[in-house]
Amino acid sequence: MAEYKSDLLIIGSGPAGYTAGIYAARAGVKSLIVAGAQKGGQLIKSSEVENFPGFTEVISGYDLMHRIHKQAMNLGVHLIDDEITEVDFYDHPFVCSSASGNSFMSKSIIIATGASVNWLGLPSERKYIGHGVSSCATCDGFFYKGKEVAVVGGGNSALEQALYLTNYVEKVYLIHRRHSFNAEHALQKRLFENRKITIFWNNVVDEIVGTEEPLEVTGIRIRNVKSDKKKFLDVAGVFVAIGHHPNTEMFRRYLQLDAGGYIITKPKSNATDIKGVYAAGDVCNPYRQAIIAAGCGARAALEAIREL
Ligand code: NDP
Repeated sequence: MAEYKSDLLIIGSGPAGYTAGIYAARAGVKSLIVAGAQKGGQLIKSSEVENFPGFTEVISGYDLMHRIHKQAMNLGVHLIDDEITEVDFYDHPFVCSSASGNSFMSKSIIIATGASVNWLGLPSERKYIGHGVSSCATCDGFFYKGKEVAVVGGGNSALEQALYLTNYVEKVYLIHRRHSFNAEHALQKRLFENRKITIFWNNVVDEIVGTEEPLEVTGIRIRNVKSDKKKFLDVAGVFVAIGHHPNTEMFRRYLQLDAGGYIITKPKSNATDIKGVYAAGDVCNPYRQAIIAAGCGARAALEAIREL
């Protein structure tokens, strides 16, 4: 058990957290990033990034975060592989404690804890998570080589995952509950042109079916919400890509959250209602864009540095 003292504590190590760390290090502020359960954040699992400025070729999320990590290390950012599990914003300096039993005392804090995936909420989904049900095509797509799989959702994540999976699988069934996607035009165009993908519009998943020993998915029951027509699809894997929620539960008792659970920051600022506490990235906006998160991280750090 260790006790860390810093002027600026950054919770989370996605693009927002790292960028905040880089700005703090360059300003000579005594700062610390606590990486969280998934160092590098959600981008680590992203297959292709082609909208982060500065890269002429498509770069994987993993490579992008690896470069950002290296840049941060070169600049002397201090990063700890631990996860903050409790915060106390009532007293100042603020005190946080971690999963490893460490305590962190800091004059200011940037919350950059990102977002987590949403699940459908079916009992059969819970049963097969990790055994055929996944939220990450980049992580698990390889295991379905030559098989048929389903992707659920109609946003950028679902379309990206469906397209990525066609590198491995024979067939992707894309199940979407409406008759249009809310994904980028470029992704939709690529999807419609891909012969390995069949779209089931206006359909929802009622049940994920599989075996007991070994625990393996063998299919899904889907239902058309307009006609009530039911269908069984033989698939070996189901990729759920139906959006995300911000990781803000730990802060709920201290900070104002909006209806979506995002931390409310002051207008044109990353400051929260508590002096010395800032929020940056997917915890305070729903865009899930690395560049926006990085920009937020920079602004939060500049605001924190100015106040120190
Ligand atoms: P979105 O919120 O954009 O889309 C979620 C999709 O899932 C919608 O089609 C929604 O349908 C559907 N959905 C939600 N709940 C359910 C449910 N219970 N059952 C069935 N379907 C459901 O989430 P994404 O994760 O796709 O994207 C989030 C943000 O991240 C967006 O801002 C997106 O632009 C961004 N993003 C950007 C990427 C990039 O730039 N390359 C890559 C990935 C994400 P409905 O439309 O009916 O609500």
